[in-house]
Amino acid sequence: MNAPATPAEAGAGDELARLRAELEHLRLLANTVPVAIAYYEAEGRTCRMANRRYAEMFGFDEHSIVGRTLAAVIGAEAAELIEPYRHRVIEEQTAAAYEREVAGADGISRVVEVRLLPHVDDGGRSVGAFVLIADITHHRRAEAALRESEERLAKFMHASEEGIVFHKGGYITDVNPPLLNLLGYTMDEMMGRLTLEFIAPEAQQKVAAVIAAAPETRYDSIALHKDGTRIPVQFIVRTMQHQGEVQRLTIVRDIRDRLQAEQRIQHLAHHDALTGLPNRLAFVERLERRLDEARVSGESLALMFIDLDHFKRINDSLGHVVGDTLLKTVATRIIEALRVGDMVARFGGDEFLVLLAPRAGAPAVAEVSGRLLATIGEPLAAGGVSISVTPSIGVAMFPQDGQTSAELIQHADQAMYRAKAGGRARCRFFEAGMAEAALAELALESRLALAVRQNEFVLHFQPQVALGAAGASAAVGAGRLLGVEALVRWAHPQRGLMGPDEFIPLAEARRLILPIGTWVLKEVLAAAVRWRAVGALGQGGAVPVAVNLSMLQFQAPGFADRVGEALAATGAEGSMLELELTERMLMSDLADVRNALGRLREMGVTITVDDFGTGYTSLAHLKELPLQRLKIDRSFVCGLPADPGAMAITRAVVQMGHGLGLQVVAEGVETEAQREAVRSMGCDALQGHLLAPPMPEPQLLQWLRGRSVP
Ligand code: C2E
Ligand code: CA
Ligand code: CA
Repeated sequence: MNAPATPAEAGAGDELARLRAELEHLRLLANTVPVAIAYYEAEGRTCRMANRRYAEMFGFDEHSIVGRTLAAVIGAEAAELIEPYRHRVIEEQTAAAYEREVAGADGISRVVEVRLLPHVDDGGRSVGAFVLIADITHHRRAEAALRESEERLAKFMHASEEGIVFHKGGYITDVNPPLLNLLGYTMDEMMGRLTLEFIAPEAQQKVAAVIAAAPETRYDSIALHKDGTRIPVQFIVRTMQHQGEVQRLTIVRDIRDRLQAEQRIQHLAHHDALTGLPNRLAFVERLERRLDEARVSGESLALMFIDLDHFKRINDSLGHVVGDTLLKTVATRIIEALRVGDMVARFGGDEFLVLLAPRAGAPAVAEVSGRLLATIGEPLAAGGVSISVTPSIGVAMFPQDGQTSAELIQHADQAMYRAKAGGRARCRFFEAGMAEAALAELALESRLALAVRQNEFVLHFQPQVALGAAGASAAVGAGRLLGVEALVRWAHPQRGLMGPDEFIPLAEARRLILPIGTWVLKEVLAAAVRWRAVGALGQGGAVPVAVNLSMLQFQAPGFADRVGEALAATGAEGSMLELELTERMLMSDLADVRNALGRLREMGVTITVDDFGTGYTSLAHLKELPLQRLKIDRSFVCGLPADPGAMAITRAVVQMGHGLGLQVVAEGVETEAQREAVRSMGCDALQGHLLAPPMPEPQLLQWLRGRSVP
């Protein structure tokens, strides 16, 4: 730059410097404001000046942009687009504003707000226009986002099946149709009202607290329908932007179905579906509460374990419908036999539990059990037939028989098991020692199943011979062989030979008697065939070999057929077989028993009543059956001849047997005195240690050979 030559020049130079400085200031200002600024001349539409922001927006700088036309700066297309605004500013001299999207020089598209201001000279002529451009991209984006979210929310509110309500400070600002549906109001009826007006009184306090504290939470409450119905609901509460302000959004979920399902599950979990009685779980819970109370009060309680006798057989033979009816009837009968405060539950299957409210000791409990035995045992009609089922009951007393619910139940169960072993249809109180017995039995039980698979059983045989009594029905000489009874033993690997009394009751309880019985029958028939071949059982007319039967075996469907099959399979004849049945087995349905025995008779099988005198078979009943022999129970024989009662019974049995045309056998004869007694009373045959104990096959054969009497 040249230095000033003259003072005038120097003065002019000062002025110029000042102007320059001012211009610099303006430029600084123009470049600092957050707006793009430009000035276009009306004529030629050329840019006279622009700040840096404006110039850079279109890819220029403040200097290079000057003198360029509008179209050259913003593009021909854009220029055409804004032509109406430009026209208005120049021709009408009014300000104009519009928004447009600008694809910036940096490639980023922005939303800008453009203002055009007319520049009018003193003569009123439009000479140019100021352009002010503000970048409103952020603003517009935020707006769009808000709009979108509001739209989304509106859509969601309508699409949701759950009720939605917005409120501000507890006053409702918006609700969706599902909520209106749920509560039975119209939109107008709800808007602007307090949310609390729609809440059940007892739930209002909680709702008010949540409104005040404004947490994000979820909780159960009760809403009120317009008609006053209380509706269990769940509230899910959030804070949200809505309609341009912070509001509270609450999702209102109808939980009536869920609660119902929960209640149902609760009921199912605690009740037995068939009888409607509480189940094991519910019973144990209540029992524990009662025990806690009794521990404090010092009262004693009685727990009864009731199990129906032979229920499985009824279920198997008559079907589940009859079985179910029976269980329901038994449940009702138990309830009727109890008092207020007693508790009953179905423990499972055919088992029931009863907890008696405090009573005056064992006699009172026995009285209840007596009532239960009587009422449960009464015949009932189910499925067109009259059936009756007896219960076996075990009782455990608190506190003496157990401290915990588990212990009491277990001990009552063990006592019940004893009641079953003792002949069923009875009640037993728990006694110390039952626990050990039960444990031993458990070990034995699992071992017994194995014994059946491994065939650990052996047979012993005990002969019967004629007594040669004067009045005997069979006119045979004394000492003549009349039969051989097969008696099973278990060759237990550790315990040695076990007698049937030690395992037959268990085998019956677990139905293992069926395979055992089948084995005994086959084995006996095979032995009989062997012995006939060698003439071991006498030359003229072989005597039969007797097999003891169990109730289960005899009552199994098709028993007579099974015997026929066993005879055929072994090549034995019916006359070689004798079947011993107890009185109890003969006491069930007469027609069935007569039918089965008749078929066995036709095969030539001898039918014998075992243990006679212990049951209560009526004479009339026995008359109807095709029987051949009768065995006086050992318990009477053992009292002979000293016990006058035993003498009287034995005499009566002999007379009765002979009256029915039966051969009478005395078993368990151990002494000469006993032999003389039974002989004098007219018994036909004797069996017992006096003659021979039960023996394995080789000893029996030896014994038979060694006898002098033919
Ligand atoms: P039970 O049918 O009354 O058999 C007679 C029992 O009296 C046998 O007992 C026999 O050993 C015993 N005995 C015989 N003579 C005398 C004697 O002079 N004095 C004494 N004190 N006892 C004598 P065991 O062998 O212990 O059999 C007991 C019961 O087991 C049998 O009584 C029978 O009811 C049952 N049993 C035996 N074998 C079988 C079987 O194969 N199947 C079934 N279901 N039960 C069987
Ligand atoms: Ca017998
Ligand atoms: Ca017997």
